[in-house]
Amino acid sequence: MPRRKKIIAEKPKITSPKVKTPQVLRGMKDILPGEQKYWQFIRERAEKMARDYGFLRIDTPILEETSLFVRAVGKQTDIVEKEMFSFVDQGRDNISLRPEATASIARAYIGHGMFNLPQPVKFFYWGPMFRHERPQGGRLRQFHQFGFEVLGDGHPVIDAGLILVAYNFYKEIGLKTSIQINSIGCAACRPRYKEILTNYYRSHRSDLCDNCKKRLNKNPLRLLDCKEEDCQPLKAEAPQIVDWLCDDCKNHFVKVLEYLDELGIPYVLNPALVRGLDYYTKTVFEIWSAFVPQGGTSADKSSVSQIDEDKSPASEAQPLQSALGGGGRYDDLVELLGGRPTPACGFSPGVERSIIRIKEANIPVPELPAPDIFLAQLGEPAKRKCLLLYEELRKEGIKLAESFSKDGLKPQFEIANRLGVKYALILGQKELVDGTIIIRDMEAGIQEIVDFKKVVKEVKKRLEMNGNEKNEIGN
Ligand code: AMP
Repeated sequence: MPRRKKIIAEKPKITSPKVKTPQVLRGMKDILPGEQKYWQFIRERAEKMARDYGFLRIDTPILEETSLFVRAVGKQTDIVEKEMFSFVDQGRDNISLRPEATASIARAYIGHGMFNLPQPVKFFYWGPMFRHERPQGGRLRQFHQFGFEVLGDGHPVIDAGLILVAYNFYKEIGLKTSIQINSIGCAACRPRYKEILTNYYRSHRSDLCDNCKKRLNKNPLRLLDCKEEDCQPLKAEAPQIVDWLCDDCKNHFVKVLEYLDELGIPYVLNPALVRGLDYYTKTVFEIWSAFVPQGGTSADKSSVSQIDEDKSPASEAQPLQSALGGGGRYDDLVELLGGRPTPACGFSPGVERSIIRIKEANIPVPELPAPDIFLAQLGEPAKRKCLLLYEELRKEGIKLAESFSKDGLKPQFEIANRLGVKYALILGQKELVDGTIIIRDMEAGIQEIVDFKKVVKEVKKRLEMNGNEKNEIGN
């Protein structure tokens, strides 16, 4: 019989099709596991502040009606004019990703009838905000803020109290800061000042940068915000709003400063501080980083490379005095949105900028808790038993790591070593038959055989001893 020719089916060629991997959006960032310890650090400190000072957590939706921000933040502001992620949804509603949270909180305050609660109400929030800005160091399109808001009280002690919270927050996370403060008056006195300011700048129109020429007509207070070198001499000589405040605003401001003096909180009177949102009245303040990294510039190259930055050299540097957070009083906002007259004040720090400064200043932050125990197994029956043991130990609050899909001990130990666990539990065929389990001290390489039934107790005993030793060394 002729031998049949073996037909070998030709393997299909595995050509890699040119599949384009989607990229993260410009100005948006993945927060990878290695970064999480910084986030955890800030979040825990912020939440502690909220608890200590009696602020209640509130979460509002990320999407809101566009008109909320147009009315609250202001039509002529940079945020509303240029930076909102706005779109029409399937229901033909005009909606926007929130660029900030105060407007939403004022909306929620009205919508839930919170004026019926004992006043003031004090809120704490945390979450992502979205602004379509030009990405650069410390400036993203999706960034995170948390904040403290007090609604329903117009007393100046509220402003000082919020500044105290802000001051203590940065102190707790180890950042050196400078508090910049100003008053931008109210609807009664600000228009007059705007007029005086506009007249002053108009008489120097030809010396102004293009942006300032636009601001002159649209938003004259923002003239004081200009960072252009050539506009600085004019800015230094500009009339100051504190000289034009009405009696009410002046008294309010003086009181706030007196309370700060009483609390021993240092501040810098900054007549050029106006903030970029229309809803502010009276007190405005910002927290600036006072840390100058070695080399004299605070540009954070690492963070610049993490974000999808604009590559032009001008965009690489984070301004030395870029604000870590800002806030102020917004006495008219609730009424502007249709609520009862409700004085209010708030403050919101940016998370990313604090993290940049923490890294620059080499401030140590606690590592995230590592697993205590690695569960190693050999053979299918041991694997099954380890699955049950895993649950038992987890319920006892023991932090575990495992690699159940691996079979050999070597690859399992490699993982255990990489994780830096103190102990490994090893269950093989022999231990299974004997009703025992091995406890291995990974550092010392010493192994002990213990009764399987007593493993939870034995593990706990060792972890407690280990914890006590650590505490003694720490003391
Ligand atoms: P604002 O109310 O605009 O002054 O923002 C308060 C704080 O949020 C700032 O001081 C920054 O720390 C942070 N922040 C604002 N905009 C951005 C942004 N585009 N990227 C990163 N952080 C920002």
